[in-house]
Amino acid sequence: MATAWLSLGANIGDPRGQLAEAVRRIDEHAQIGVSAQSSVLTTKPWGKTDQPDFANMAIAVETDLQPIDLLGVLLSIELAMGRVRKEVWGPRLIDIDIIAYERLQLKTERLTLPHPHAHERAFVTDPLTEIAPEVTAWVIDIAGAH
Ligand code: ATP
Ligand code: CA
Ligand code: CA
Repeated sequence: MATAWLSLGANIGDPRGQLAEAVRRIDEHAQIGVSAQSSVLTTKPWGKTDQPDFANMAIAVETDLQPIDLLGVLLSIELAMGRVRKEVWGPRLIDIDIIAYERLQLKTERLTLPHPHAHERAFVTDPLTEIAPEVTAWVIDIAGAH
């Protein structure tokens, strides 16, 4: 089993309801268990600022899936919840990113670990610090070395 840390965000529909539904769907997957949850924070949009505020949270999961397969499950949960990908950083019903998977460093077309923007986003690092301060410090440390 491996531990991974995920960042969840939503800013249209019922953002807090969608975060709760996403956590439930992740935990219901046979190969993923949710082991920690941060509180939910309300944050200002990042990157593209003319859109509603976000609800953000971080969770820790235990999984026997490899990182790329974990990503596949998370993307399919986004799709099942009705996410339509129009523009990067645009409004969304639900976004689920892998911030870190163990202390793995990886850069492929489909997956970069740790998440390449995590260290510069308070909406990621603030909730993650609540549940995993040492992982947050590691993510910031790795990014600084880039
Ligand atoms: P950002 O990645 O800057 O947070 P975004 O979440 O809005 O932007 P998406 O449209 O949700 O971007 O994702 C685009 C692609 O990013 C995904 O299809 C996925 O293949 C890729 N990706 C690369 N690294 C990661 C990661 N660590 N977690 C989630 N997706 C990733
Ligand atoms: Ca994202
Ligand atoms: Ca994403």
